[in-house]
Amino acid sequence: MVGPQLHSIRGLVHVTPLELDLDLEKGSFFGRFEWRNSFEAQVYLQHHDISKDPVCWSQLGYASGYTTYFVGRPIIYKEVACVGCGHAHCEIVGKPAEEWEDHAEMERMLPRDSLAEELFALQSQVSELQETIKAGKRDAISNSVGRSRAFREACQLIHRAAASKANVLLSGETGAGKEVFARGLHAASPRADQPFVAVNCASIPPDLIEAELFGVEKGAYTGATVSRPGKFERANQGTIFLDEVVELSPRAQASLLRVLQEGELERVGGTQVHKINVRIVAASNEDLKQAVANGKFRADLYYRLNVYPVHIPPLRERTEDIPLLTEHFVSKYNTLYNKRTSGVSDKAMRALMHYQWPGNIRELENMIERGVILTDSNQMIDEHALFPSLTEPGGMKAIDPTGHLHASATQTADPGHDELCEQLLAEGFSLDQLEARLIRTALAKAEGNITHAARLLSITRPQLAYRLDKLKGLK
Ligand SMILES: [Zn+2]
Repeated sequence: MVGPQLHSIRGLVHVTPLELDLDLEKGSFFGRFEWRNSFEAQVYLQHHDISKDPVCWSQLGYASGYTTYFVGRPIIYKEVACVGCGHAHCEIVGKPAEEWEDHAEMERMLPRDSLAEELFALQSQVSELQETIKAGKRDAISNSVGRSRAFREACQLIHRAAASKANVLLSGETGAGKEVFARGLHAASPRADQPFVAVNCASIPPDLIEAELFGVEKGAYTGATVSRPGKFERANQGTIFLDEVVELSPRAQASLLRVLQEGELERVGGTQVHKINVRIVAASNEDLKQAVANGKFRADLYYRLNVYPVHIPPLRERTEDIPLLTEHFVSKYNTLYNKRTSGVSDKAMRALMHYQWPGNIRELENMIERGVILTDSNQMIDEHALFPSLTEPGGMKAIDPTGHLHASATQTADPGHDELCEQLLAEGFSLDQLEARLIRTALAKAEGNITHAARLLSITRPQLAYRLDKLKGLK
Protein backbone atom coordinates (compact mmCIF):
# COMPACT_ATOMS: atom_id res chain seq x y z
CA MET A 1 0.00 0.00 0.00
CA VAL A 2 3.06 2.28 0.04
CA GLY A 3 2.57 3.19 -3.62
CA PRO A 4 -1.04 4.30 -3.25
CA GLN A 5 -0.09 6.19 -0.07
CA LEU A 6 2.60 8.09 -1.93
CA HIS A 7 0.08 9.01 -4.58
CA SER A 8 -2.22 10.22 -1.87
CA ILE A 9 0.50 12.28 -0.16
CA ARG A 10 1.35 13.91 -3.43
CA GLY A 11 -2.29 14.87 -3.84
CA LEU A 12 -2.83 12.87 -7.00
CA VAL A 13 -5.52 10.51 -5.90
CA HIS A 14 -6.93 8.98 -2.73
CA VAL A 15 -6.81 5.16 -2.88
CA THR A 16 -8.97 2.67 -0.97
CA PRO A 17 -8.43 -1.06 -1.52
CA LEU A 18 -11.62 -2.96 -2.32
CA GLU A 19 -10.06 -6.37 -2.97
CA LEU A 20 -6.42 -7.44 -2.66
CA ASP A 21 -5.17 -10.94 -3.23
CA LEU A 22 -1.42 -11.25 -3.42
CA ASP A 23 1.00 -14.16 -3.19
CA LEU A 24 4.54 -13.10 -3.94
CA GLU A 25 5.87 -16.69 -3.92
CA LYS A 26 3.36 -17.89 -6.50
CA GLY A 27 3.48 -14.54 -8.24
CA SER A 28 -0.28 -14.27 -8.23
CA PHE A 29 -1.96 -10.90 -7.97
CA PHE A 30 -5.41 -9.48 -8.06
CA GLY A 31 -6.30 -6.00 -6.87
CA ARG A 32 -9.34 -3.75 -7.07
CA PHE A 33 -9.06 -0.16 -5.79
CA GLU A 34 -11.32 2.80 -5.47
CA TRP A 35 -9.87 6.14 -6.53
CA ARG A 36 -11.34 9.28 -5.08
CA ASN A 37 -10.44 12.87 -5.96
CA SER A 38 -8.41 11.87 -8.98
CA PHE A 39 -6.35 14.94 -9.83
CA GLU A 40 -5.96 13.74 -13.39
CA ALA A 41 -9.73 13.42 -13.87
CA GLN A 42 -10.32 16.86 -12.35
CA VAL A 43 -7.82 18.49 -14.68
CA TYR A 44 -9.37 16.65 -17.60
CA LEU A 45 -12.86 17.89 -16.80
CA GLN A 46 -11.66 21.49 -16.47
CA HIS A 47 -10.76 21.45 -20.14
CA HIS A 48 -12.96 18.82 -21.75
CA ASP A 49 -16.44 17.40 -21.78
CA ILE A 50 -17.24 13.99 -20.35
CA SER A 51 -15.07 11.36 -22.01
CA LYS A 52 -16.12 8.06 -23.55
CA ASP A 53 -12.97 6.37 -22.23
CA PRO A 54 -11.34 6.52 -18.79
CA VAL A 55 -8.88 9.42 -18.55
CA CYS A 56 -6.56 8.69 -15.58
CA TRP A 57 -3.96 6.97 -17.69
CA SER A 58 -0.78 8.35 -16.13
CA GLN A 59 -1.88 7.30 -12.63
CA LEU A 60 -2.85 3.95 -14.12
CA GLY A 61 0.58 3.58 -15.65
CA TYR A 62 2.16 4.39 -12.35
CA ALA A 63 0.12 1.69 -10.60
CA SER A 64 0.99 -0.88 -13.30
CA GLY A 65 4.69 -0.14 -13.18
CA TYR A 66 4.83 -0.07 -9.42
CA THR A 67 3.03 -3.38 -8.94
CA THR A 68 4.91 -5.04 -11.80
CA TYR A 69 8.16 -4.12 -10.09
CA PHE A 70 7.41 -5.64 -6.69
CA VAL A 71 5.49 -8.69 -7.94
CA GLY A 72 8.26 -9.40 -10.44
CA ARG A 73 5.98 -10.03 -13.44
CA PRO A 74 3.92 -7.76 -15.68
CA ILE A 75 0.82 -6.57 -13.80
CA ILE A 76 -1.62 -4.44 -15.78
CA TYR A 77 -4.30 -2.19 -14.31
CA LYS A 78 -7.38 -1.05 -16.11
CA GLU A 79 -9.71 1.69 -15.08
CA VAL A 80 -13.21 0.20 -15.01
CA ALA A 81 -14.96 3.36 -13.81
CA CYS A 82 -13.74 6.97 -14.12
CA VAL A 83 -14.87 10.40 -12.97
CA GLY A 84 -13.81 11.60 -16.41
CA CYS A 85 -16.59 9.40 -17.85
CA GLY A 86 -19.18 10.80 -15.43
CA HIS A 87 -18.90 8.14 -12.72
CA ALA A 88 -19.03 9.10 -9.01
CA HIS A 89 -15.43 7.92 -8.53
CA CYS A 90 -12.77 5.97 -10.36
CA GLU A 91 -12.11 2.30 -9.91
CA ILE A 92 -9.17 0.25 -11.09
CA VAL A 93 -8.54 -3.49 -11.43
CA GLY A 94 -5.10 -5.03 -11.68
CA LYS A 95 -3.97 -8.56 -12.56
CA PRO A 96 -1.14 -10.31 -14.40
CA ALA A 97 -0.98 -9.15 -18.02
CA GLU A 98 -1.72 -12.58 -19.50
CA GLU A 99 -4.92 -12.89 -17.45
CA TRP A 100 -6.53 -10.06 -19.39
CA GLU A 101 -8.52 -11.27 -22.39
CA ASP A 102 -7.07 -8.52 -24.63
CA HIS A 103 -3.59 -9.52 -23.54
CA ALA A 104 -2.20 -9.79 -27.07
CA GLU A 105 -3.37 -6.26 -27.90
CA MET A 106 -1.71 -4.84 -24.79
CA GLU A 107 1.50 -6.68 -25.51
CA ARG A 108 1.64 -4.84 -28.83
CA MET A 109 1.36 -1.49 -27.06
CA LEU A 110 4.02 -2.36 -24.50
CA PRO A 111 7.07 -3.11 -26.61
CA ARG A 112 9.81 -5.11 -24.96
CA ASP A 113 12.62 -2.73 -25.81
CA SER A 114 11.54 -0.25 -23.21
CA LEU A 115 13.33 2.90 -22.22
CA ALA A 116 14.98 0.97 -19.39
CA GLU A 117 16.42 -1.57 -21.78
CA GLU A 118 17.64 1.19 -24.04
CA LEU A 119 19.24 2.78 -21.01
CA PHE A 120 20.99 -0.45 -20.11
CA ALA A 121 22.22 -0.85 -23.66
CA LEU A 122 23.58 2.70 -23.66
CA GLN A 123 25.17 2.15 -20.29
CA SER A 124 27.08 -0.88 -21.49
CA GLN A 125 28.07 1.04 -24.60
CA VAL A 126 29.51 3.80 -22.44
CA SER A 127 31.57 1.38 -20.37
CA GLU A 128 32.82 -0.29 -23.55
CA LEU A 129 33.88 3.08 -24.93
CA GLN A 130 35.61 3.92 -21.67
CA GLU A 131 37.55 0.69 -21.95
CA THR A 132 38.49 1.54 -25.51
CA ILE A 133 39.77 4.95 -24.46
CA LYS A 134 41.85 3.35 -21.71
CA ALA A 135 43.25 0.86 -24.18
CA GLY A 136 43.96 3.75 -26.53
CA LYS A 137 45.95 5.41 -23.79
CA ARG A 138 47.89 2.23 -23.23
CA ASP A 139 48.73 2.20 -26.92
CA ALA A 140 49.73 5.84 -26.98
CA ILE A 141 53.30 4.92 -27.80
CA SER A 142 52.47 2.49 -30.56
CA ASN A 143 50.30 5.20 -32.04
CA SER A 144 53.23 7.56 -32.18
CA VAL A 145 54.43 7.75 -35.70
CA GLY A 146 57.13 5.38 -36.84
CA ARG A 147 57.79 1.98 -38.37
CA SER A 148 61.57 1.86 -38.41
CA ARG A 149 63.36 -0.82 -36.47
CA ALA A 150 65.18 1.71 -34.25
CA PHE A 151 61.88 3.37 -33.34
CA ARG A 152 60.05 0.11 -32.66
CA GLU A 153 62.87 -1.13 -30.45
CA ALA A 154 62.70 2.00 -28.32
CA CYS A 155 58.91 1.59 -28.11
CA GLN A 156 59.26 -1.98 -26.93
CA LEU A 157 61.72 -1.02 -24.21
CA ILE A 158 59.36 1.73 -23.04
CA HIS A 159 56.40 -0.64 -23.03
CA ARG A 160 58.27 -3.10 -20.88
CA ALA A 161 59.32 -0.36 -18.47
CA ALA A 162 55.79 1.05 -18.24
CA ALA A 163 54.43 -1.79 -16.13
CA SER A 164 57.34 -1.70 -13.70
CA LYS A 165 58.14 0.95 -11.13
CA ALA A 166 61.64 1.52 -12.42
CA ASN A 167 62.94 5.02 -13.00
CA VAL A 168 63.83 5.47 -16.63
CA LEU A 169 66.67 7.43 -18.18
CA LEU A 170 66.10 8.53 -21.77
CA SER A 171 69.11 9.48 -23.81
CA GLY A 172 69.02 11.00 -27.22
CA GLU A 173 69.59 14.18 -29.16
CA THR A 174 67.59 17.37 -28.73
CA GLY A 175 64.31 17.18 -30.58
CA ALA A 176 64.33 13.38 -30.91
CA GLY A 177 61.00 13.22 -29.09
CA LYS A 178 62.08 12.23 -25.60
CA GLU A 179 59.08 13.95 -24.03
CA VAL A 180 56.74 12.06 -26.36
CA PHE A 181 58.28 8.82 -25.14
CA ALA A 182 58.05 9.94 -21.50
CA ARG A 183 54.35 10.74 -21.99
CA GLY A 184 53.86 7.40 -23.67
CA LEU A 185 55.54 5.63 -20.77
CA HIS A 186 53.25 7.42 -18.33
CA ALA A 187 50.13 6.71 -20.37
CA ALA A 188 50.98 3.02 -20.60
CA SER A 189 51.76 2.74 -16.88
CA PRO A 190 49.39 2.03 -13.97
CA ARG A 191 49.80 5.73 -13.09
CA ALA A 192 48.07 6.84 -16.29
CA ASP A 193 45.16 8.48 -14.43
CA GLN A 194 47.52 10.50 -12.24
CA PRO A 195 49.33 13.68 -13.26
CA PHE A 196 52.19 13.84 -15.73
CA VAL A 197 54.46 16.84 -15.16
CA ALA A 198 57.24 17.76 -17.57
CA VAL A 199 60.11 20.02 -16.55
CA ASN A 200 62.94 21.22 -18.76
CA CYS A 201 65.70 21.76 -16.22
CA ALA A 202 67.72 23.81 -18.71
CA SER A 203 64.97 26.38 -19.13
CA ILE A 204 64.79 27.33 -15.44
CA PRO A 205 67.43 29.67 -13.97
CA PRO A 206 69.73 27.67 -11.65
CA ASP A 207 68.85 29.73 -8.57
CA LEU A 208 65.12 29.10 -9.07
CA ILE A 209 65.23 25.44 -9.96
CA GLU A 210 64.98 24.17 -6.39
CA ALA A 211 61.86 26.24 -5.70
CA GLU A 212 60.35 25.17 -9.04
CA LEU A 213 60.90 21.49 -8.40
CA PHE A 214 60.42 21.16 -4.67
CA GLY A 215 58.19 24.12 -3.81
CA VAL A 216 58.78 27.09 -1.57
CA GLU A 217 57.55 28.37 1.78
CA LYS A 218 56.47 31.98 2.14
CA GLY A 219 59.41 34.25 2.98
CA ALA A 220 62.07 31.74 1.96
CA TYR A 221 63.62 34.45 -0.20
CA THR A 222 62.75 37.90 -1.47
CA GLY A 223 59.80 37.51 -3.78
CA ALA A 224 58.49 34.34 -2.17
CA THR A 225 55.30 36.04 -1.01
CA VAL A 226 53.18 32.90 -0.89
CA SER A 227 53.87 29.27 -0.15
CA ARG A 228 53.43 27.05 -3.15
CA PRO A 229 54.01 23.42 -4.07
CA GLY A 230 56.68 22.49 -6.56
CA LYS A 231 56.50 20.26 -9.62
CA PHE A 232 57.19 17.15 -7.55
CA GLU A 233 54.22 17.74 -5.27
CA ARG A 234 52.05 18.41 -8.30
CA ALA A 235 53.22 15.15 -9.87
CA ASN A 236 52.53 13.15 -6.71
CA GLN A 237 51.23 9.63 -7.49
CA GLY A 238 52.06 10.29 -11.12
CA THR A 239 55.14 10.75 -13.27
CA ILE A 240 57.62 13.61 -13.51
CA PHE A 241 59.72 14.08 -16.62
CA LEU A 242 63.02 15.86 -15.98
CA ASP A 243 64.50 16.86 -19.31
CA GLU A 244 68.14 18.02 -19.46
CA VAL A 245 68.59 16.67 -15.95
CA VAL A 246 72.32 17.36 -16.21
CA GLU A 247 71.54 21.06 -15.71
CA LEU A 248 70.38 20.57 -12.11
CA SER A 249 72.32 22.60 -9.54
CA PRO A 250 74.27 20.62 -6.92
CA ARG A 251 71.67 21.48 -4.26
CA ALA A 252 68.81 20.40 -6.52
CA GLN A 253 70.70 17.18 -7.24
CA ALA A 254 70.91 16.53 -3.49
CA SER A 255 67.17 17.11 -3.05
CA LEU A 256 66.40 14.86 -6.01
CA LEU A 257 68.54 12.12 -4.49
CA ARG A 258 66.53 12.43 -1.27
CA VAL A 259 63.26 12.01 -3.20
CA LEU A 260 64.71 8.91 -4.84
CA GLN A 261 66.08 7.39 -1.65
CA GLU A 262 63.58 8.42 1.03
CA GLY A 263 60.51 9.35 -1.00
CA GLU A 264 60.33 12.72 0.74
CA LEU A 265 61.13 16.38 0.21
CA GLU A 266 61.12 19.70 2.01
CA ARG A 267 60.09 22.92 0.33
CA VAL A 268 62.70 25.64 0.05
CA GLY A 269 62.65 27.56 3.35
CA GLY A 270 60.41 24.94 4.95
CA THR A 271 60.92 22.34 7.65
CA GLN A 272 57.87 20.16 7.08
CA VAL A 273 58.63 16.86 5.37
CA HIS A 274 56.33 16.00 2.45
CA LYS A 275 55.97 12.34 1.51
CA ILE A 276 56.18 11.96 -2.23
CA ASN A 277 55.48 9.06 -4.56
CA VAL A 278 56.59 10.01 -8.04
CA ARG A 279 57.99 8.01 -10.87
CA ILE A 280 60.96 9.78 -12.37
CA VAL A 281 61.73 9.76 -16.05
CA ALA A 282 64.95 11.69 -16.60
CA ALA A 283 66.44 12.65 -19.93
CA SER A 284 69.70 14.03 -21.09
CA ASN A 285 71.19 14.79 -24.46
CA GLU A 286 74.59 15.22 -22.90
CA ASP A 287 76.44 12.10 -21.89
CA LEU A 288 75.55 11.88 -18.20
CA LYS A 289 78.38 9.46 -17.55
CA GLN A 290 80.78 12.08 -18.90
CA ALA A 291 79.17 14.70 -16.65
CA VAL A 292 79.79 12.37 -13.70
CA ALA A 293 83.44 11.97 -14.72
CA ASN A 294 83.77 15.76 -14.99
CA GLY A 295 82.32 16.18 -11.51
CA LYS A 296 79.29 18.06 -12.85
CA PHE A 297 76.78 15.38 -11.90
CA ARG A 298 76.61 13.25 -8.72
CA ALA A 299 77.60 9.64 -9.28
CA ASP A 300 75.11 8.27 -6.72
CA LEU A 301 72.29 10.20 -8.40
CA TYR A 302 73.37 8.96 -11.82
CA TYR A 303 73.18 5.31 -10.73
CA ARG A 304 69.74 5.84 -9.19
CA LEU A 305 68.42 7.45 -12.37
CA ASN A 306 70.08 5.05 -14.75
CA VAL A 307 68.17 1.95 -13.63
CA TYR A 308 66.52 1.50 -17.01
CA PRO A 309 68.25 3.36 -19.82
CA VAL A 310 66.49 3.78 -23.15
CA HIS A 311 68.13 5.35 -26.18
CA ILE A 312 65.83 7.37 -28.41
CA PRO A 313 67.22 7.18 -31.96
CA PRO A 314 67.92 10.41 -33.84
CA LEU A 315 65.83 11.02 -36.94
CA ARG A 316 68.73 10.38 -39.34
CA GLU A 317 68.85 6.78 -38.00
CA ARG A 318 65.18 6.26 -38.80
CA THR A 319 64.87 7.91 -42.21
CA GLU A 320 62.23 5.38 -43.27
CA ASP A 321 59.91 7.10 -40.80
CA ILE A 322 60.32 10.47 -42.50
CA PRO A 323 57.48 10.01 -45.06
CA LEU A 324 55.12 8.90 -42.26
CA LEU A 325 56.12 11.74 -39.97
CA THR A 326 55.85 14.21 -42.83
CA GLU A 327 52.36 13.03 -43.66
CA HIS A 328 51.44 13.25 -39.99
CA PHE A 329 52.70 16.84 -39.62
CA VAL A 330 51.23 18.00 -42.96
CA SER A 331 47.82 16.81 -41.84
CA LYS A 332 48.32 18.34 -38.39
CA TYR A 333 49.21 21.78 -39.76
CA ASN A 334 46.68 21.63 -42.59
CA THR A 335 44.06 21.30 -39.86
CA LEU A 336 45.65 23.94 -37.64
CA TYR A 337 45.92 26.54 -40.42
CA ASN A 338 42.74 25.46 -42.17
CA LYS A 339 44.64 24.62 -45.36
CA ARG A 340 44.43 21.85 -47.92
CA THR A 341 47.99 21.55 -49.20
CA SER A 342 48.45 18.29 -51.11
CA GLY A 343 51.50 17.03 -49.29
CA VAL A 344 55.15 17.26 -50.13
CA SER A 345 56.50 17.12 -53.69
CA ASP A 346 58.73 14.18 -54.70
CA LYS A 347 61.73 16.41 -54.93
CA ALA A 348 61.12 17.94 -51.54
CA MET A 349 60.67 14.44 -50.10
CA ARG A 350 64.05 13.39 -51.52
CA ALA A 351 65.62 16.41 -49.85
CA LEU A 352 63.94 15.53 -46.56
CA MET A 353 65.20 11.95 -46.80
CA HIS A 354 68.79 13.07 -47.30
CA TYR A 355 68.93 15.89 -44.81
CA GLN A 356 70.94 15.20 -41.67
CA TRP A 357 68.36 16.53 -39.18
CA PRO A 358 70.51 18.05 -36.44
CA GLY A 359 67.28 19.22 -34.80
CA ASN A 360 65.54 15.85 -35.25
CA ILE A 361 61.75 15.50 -35.25
CA ARG A 362 61.23 18.96 -33.80
CA GLU A 363 63.12 20.44 -36.75
CA LEU A 364 61.08 18.36 -39.19
CA GLU A 365 57.87 19.49 -37.55
CA ASN A 366 58.92 23.17 -37.67
CA MET A 367 59.92 22.77 -41.28
CA ILE A 368 56.59 21.21 -42.28
CA GLU A 369 54.70 23.87 -40.37
CA ARG A 370 56.57 26.56 -42.34
CA GLY A 371 55.95 24.64 -45.56
CA VAL A 372 52.21 24.47 -44.93
CA ILE A 373 52.09 28.20 -44.17
CA LEU A 374 54.00 29.11 -47.34
CA THR A 375 52.05 26.81 -49.66
CA ASP A 376 48.63 27.52 -51.10
CA SER A 377 45.81 25.02 -50.73
CA ASN A 378 45.75 22.30 -53.42
CA GLN A 379 49.47 22.94 -54.10
CA MET A 380 52.34 20.61 -53.27
CA ILE A 381 54.81 21.81 -50.67
CA ASP A 382 58.08 22.17 -52.59
CA GLU A 383 61.66 22.15 -51.36
CA HIS A 384 61.90 25.95 -51.36
CA ALA A 385 59.10 26.21 -48.85
CA LEU A 386 60.86 23.68 -46.62
CA PHE A 387 64.44 24.89 -47.01
CA PRO A 388 64.09 28.64 -47.56
CA SER A 389 67.88 29.10 -47.31
CA LEU A 390 68.11 27.36 -50.71
CA THR A 391 66.86 30.50 -52.40
CA GLU A 392 68.72 32.96 -50.18
CA PRO A 393 72.08 34.14 -51.45
CA GLY A 394 74.71 32.71 -49.16
CA GLY A 395 72.20 30.23 -47.81
CA MET A 396 73.35 27.41 -45.61
CA LYS A 397 72.33 24.42 -47.67
CA ALA A 398 72.47 23.25 -51.23
CA ILE A 399 70.96 20.22 -52.93
CA ASP A 400 73.34 18.14 -54.98
CA PRO A 401 72.10 16.16 -57.96
CA THR A 402 71.24 13.13 -55.82
CA GLY A 403 69.04 15.24 -53.62
CA HIS A 404 71.61 15.41 -50.83
CA LEU A 405 71.72 18.60 -48.85
CA HIS A 406 75.01 20.04 -47.78
CA ALA A 407 76.59 23.30 -46.85
CA SER A 408 77.77 24.74 -50.14
CA ALA A 409 81.54 25.02 -50.45
CA THR A 410 81.46 28.55 -51.77
CA GLN A 411 79.26 29.62 -48.92
CA THR A 412 81.89 28.73 -46.34
CA ALA A 413 84.57 30.50 -48.36
CA ASP A 414 82.76 33.73 -49.09
CA PRO A 415 79.05 33.74 -48.33
CA GLY A 416 76.89 35.54 -50.81
CA HIS A 417 79.49 36.01 -53.54
CA ASP A 418 79.28 32.88 -55.62
CA GLU A 419 79.37 34.18 -59.18
CA LEU A 420 77.56 31.24 -60.68
CA CYS A 421 74.82 31.43 -58.06
CA GLU A 422 74.53 35.21 -58.41
CA GLN A 423 74.15 34.81 -62.14
CA LEU A 424 71.62 32.01 -61.78
CA LEU A 425 69.58 33.99 -59.29
CA ALA A 426 69.64 37.04 -61.53
CA GLU A 427 68.39 34.89 -64.40
CA GLY A 428 65.46 33.68 -62.34
CA PHE A 429 66.70 30.12 -62.65
CA SER A 430 64.93 26.98 -61.53
CA LEU A 431 66.62 24.03 -59.91
CA ASP A 432 65.27 21.81 -62.66
CA GLN A 433 66.98 23.94 -65.28
CA LEU A 434 70.20 23.89 -63.30
CA GLU A 435 70.01 20.13 -63.04
CA ALA A 436 69.40 19.85 -66.77
CA ARG A 437 72.34 22.14 -67.55
CA LEU A 438 74.66 20.15 -65.29
CA ILE A 439 73.62 16.87 -66.86
CA ARG A 440 74.04 18.17 -70.42
CA THR A 441 77.45 19.61 -69.60
CA ALA A 442 78.57 16.35 -67.99
CA LEU A 443 77.28 14.35 -70.96
CA ALA A 444 79.11 16.63 -73.39
CA LYS A 445 82.33 16.23 -71.41
CA ALA A 446 81.89 12.47 -71.33
CA GLU A 447 81.22 12.49 -75.07
CA GLY A 448 77.84 10.86 -74.56
CA ASN A 449 79.13 8.05 -72.34
CA ILE A 450 76.45 7.77 -69.68
CA THR A 451 78.57 5.79 -67.21
CA HIS A 452 81.32 8.36 -67.46
CA ALA A 453 78.89 11.26 -67.14
CA ALA A 454 77.29 9.67 -64.08
CA ARG A 455 80.72 9.44 -62.47
CA LEU A 456 81.33 13.13 -63.18
CA LEU A 457 78.04 13.91 -61.42
CA SER A 458 78.78 11.54 -58.48
CA ILE A 459 75.65 9.53 -59.12
CA THR A 460 75.05 5.99 -60.36
CA ARG A 461 74.37 5.12 -63.98
CA PRO A 462 70.73 4.11 -63.32
CA GLN A 463 70.21 7.38 -61.47
CA LEU A 464 71.50 9.34 -64.43
CA ALA A 465 69.47 7.22 -66.85
CA TYR A 466 66.37 7.98 -64.81
CA ARG A 467 67.11 11.71 -64.88
CA LEU A 468 67.72 11.63 -68.61
CA ASP A 469 64.36 9.98 -69.12
CA LYS A 470 62.80 12.72 -67.04
CA LEU A 471 64.56 15.40 -69.13
CA LYS A 472 63.23 13.82 -72.30
CA GLY A 473 59.79 13.91 -70.77
CA LEU A 474 60.19 17.65 -70.17
CA LYS A 475 60.91 18.43 -73.81
ZN1 LIG B 1 -10.36 8.17 -13.49
